[in-house]
Amino acid sequence: MASLSAMASMSFDEMQRAMERDSLTLGSSRERVEVPRRAAARDLERVEVSRRAAARDLARVEVSRRAAARDSARVEVSRRAAARDLARVEVSRRAAARDLERVEVSRRAAARDLEQRASSAFAQMLRRHENSRATRHASSLRTRVLSEPLEDPITREILEPGTRAVVLPCNHTFSRGGITQWLERKRTCPVCRASV
Ligand SMILES: [Zn+2]
Repeated sequence: MASLSAMASMSFDEMQRAMERDSLTLGSSRERVEVPRRAAARDLERVEVSRRAAARDLARVEVSRRAAARDSARVEVSRRAAARDLARVEVSRRAAARDLERVEVSRRAAARDLEQRASSAFAQMLRRHENSRATRHASSLRTRVLSEPLEDPITREILEPGTRAVVLPCNHTFSRGGITQWLERKRTCPVCRASV
């Protein structure tokens, strides 16, 4: 472009020509700048389009992420509820097991008690039977009235003269009570072991 000092020395025609030249130069340089500016603007437009698409994608991802987080929260709530149910069931199971144990202990105690009662009833019955048999046996034996004191070999009781005592076939003499007790258990003379 023509400088002001150069223009001052020019004639009007010269100045006009210089200005036309400058204008052309200006136009072509404006053109040179305008082309890349448009390209850059188009690039910018494309980038903006991409940016918006990316923003939409990001928004969609965020929506999905929140939905997944809500699902995950619901799953966690369900998991905790299931864990609590399981814990309650376990508590009930243990209580039931303890009850069962207690019932089993009671059942065994009752069975032992029943067994003891049955065996003691049987023993009592057997004793009564032996006792009545011995009593019958003792009353069938010969007796005599003592003329002198006698110590019963079974009970260590001193039998006074005049007492009616029992005499076994082997001739050994006893109090009726003593020999009856003895005969409940044995059928031999306590002194000589002879059969009674
Ligand atoms: Zn005897």
